Amino acid sequence: MADMDERLNQWLRDAHAMELQAEHMLNGLAGRIESYPELGTRIDQHIVETQSQKQRLEACLQRRGTSPSGMKDFAGQFTALMQTAGGVLAGDEVVKGLLAGYTFEHMEIGSYRILAAGAEAAGDMETARVCEEICREEEAMASWLLDHCREITQAHLMRHATESETAKR
Ligand code: MG
Ligand code: FE
Repeated sequence: MADMDERLNQWLRDAHAMELQAEHMLNGLAGRIESYPELGTRIDQHIVETQSQKQRLEACLQRRGTSPSGMKDFAGQFTALMQTAGGVLAGDEVVKGLLAGYTFEHMEIGSYRILAAGAEAAGDMETARVCEEICREEEAMASWLLDHCREITQAHLMRHATESETAKR
């Protein structure tokens, strides 16, 4: 059981690091999509959720007698994509951001499903409940991005066609 508990603690620390990365990425995106107020509003809302997720994970770690390890532990499979999302002058930041966001949310969904299953196996039902709760927030964000993908992509292309500098974003 000690092994199982340590494994679960590591997964929780990974998730915490993932949320630090999420916050960083969402903040970067929020500052570069001024032409898309609806997307901006949804991202702002998810930043608040992300900060709360981070705190809920910290509470789980604390209750389990351990602590977060910081962003350095984040494996960063999506580092290149995130860097693209954080890039400048490409002209299609909003579309890259949409792709990065949609991809990132699905990594989060997978992570929290695994964590909830692991917590359940370890008998930590409160951590399982928290991870399922967070998972639903990630699913809602992913659905929103999917539902608005066509509209945002086409709006970007139409704006780009006008050759206006701000509209390209
Ligand atoms: Mg999250
Ligand atoms: Fe998320």
